[in-house]
Amino acid sequence: MKGIVPFYHLFYGLEFHRFFTRPPDFNSQIKFQIRFTVNNAKQLYQRVHQNNGFHPCYTSIYDTGRKDEANQKMNPEAMGYDRAFFDFDIDNHEAHQLKKELQDLRSRGLFHQKKLQDETMETLRNLIIDERIAAPAIDEAKRFAAMFKEWFGSYPILFFSGCKGCHAYTFFEPINDVDINRCLTWFAEETKETHDYQTMDLSVTKDAKNRLSRVPYSKHQYTGLTVVPFQVDDSYEDIMAKALSPGIEPFSREAYYSTFGEYLQGIDPILKHNMEVEKKQRTTTQGNLDKPLNPMVDDHRLFFKSILGEPEGEYPEKEYLMYRCPFPGHDDNKASFRVHKAGYYCYGCGKKGNYFQFLKEYHGWSDEEVKNHLKTGINKKTVKVKIP
Ligand SMILES: [Zn+2]
Repeated sequence: MKGIVPFYHLFYGLEFHRFFTRPPDFNSQIKFQIRFTVNNAKQLYQRVHQNNGFHPCYTSIYDTGRKDEANQKMNPEAMGYDRAFFDFDIDNHEAHQLKKELQDLRSRGLFHQKKLQDETMETLRNLIIDERIAAPAIDEAKRFAAMFKEWFGSYPILFFSGCKGCHAYTFFEPINDVDINRCLTWFAEETKETHDYQTMDLSVTKDAKNRLSRVPYSKHQYTGLTVVPFQVDDSYEDIMAKALSPGIEPFSREAYYSTFGEYLQGIDPILKHNMEVEKKQRTTTQGNLDKPLNPMVDDHRLFFKSILGEPEGEYPEKEYLMYRCPFPGHDDNKASFRVHKAGYYCYGCGKKGNYFQFLKEYHGWSDEEVKNHLKTGINKKTVKVKIP
């Protein structure tokens, strides 16, 4: 394809250390080398060219830094983070079956029952083009892009994946002082939940460091469709037409520079702080309070000590603690609030219950809010981080 090396130049940089890989779909008896180090656009192009259409072509999201040639280990200390990658993908049973059939055929040879392979590919391709099965992922990626622009100043660049999903990349000035996995995991989970991006694939952001992405302008091995960029106002048909007969489009990385890197730098220390606070809480008196999912408080004395501090009276032989009643409606001038192993009872105002009822009534929370609190273990000492 004309202009592909200059494109990789602009997209990935002049020089870099990336891994190129083509996961094998076939013939496990023969040892194919499947992972290579590439150091510049030309090498990347050569790898893509050799494998295009037959094997998937993936490369590292980040420059992996200085590398150990012998075992191709990356050096996380030297990794450069200058982009973020998001993936949108749909589940489709029929497409899944067709992929499996192709995989099975190819495991017996790239040209084994070639006619059947071609027919299966065509069926899959038609499913994507005519049945529009990738539409939910593409629509969500467009919605994500618009939101992203509003928050961080520019659209991410979107690529159709060649099958049933799409990718979004944003670029920023390199940042080195953040825990990229922590930040991206948090951001993606929060965004996915808040904005209901059902097709957003969280595994991508969970392990951003090690993640590989499909190389732009490579051909999908099961559909023959090319990984092509698209705009938010491109129709599904426009995108498919490009994927069928692609040409390299003008690209400037500057057009996709966003303030996302600065944003990550801003939230990282807060997320780190919250993690430390939560970790500390887990290891101190809080007992079972923030054990994830269905936390049961075994001993209410520990629970109330963790939130109210030391009691005014402690009666080990009688097995209860006495506090001044914490409920705002009861101005308790002596310690009337008794906490025993299984719950609490106030001699003054008559309130009684267990930890769940306490959190609910004390904070004025709904059942749902109490559950969220117990699930996340977030308390007042952690800092609320919000997506923009
Ligand atoms: Zn009371």
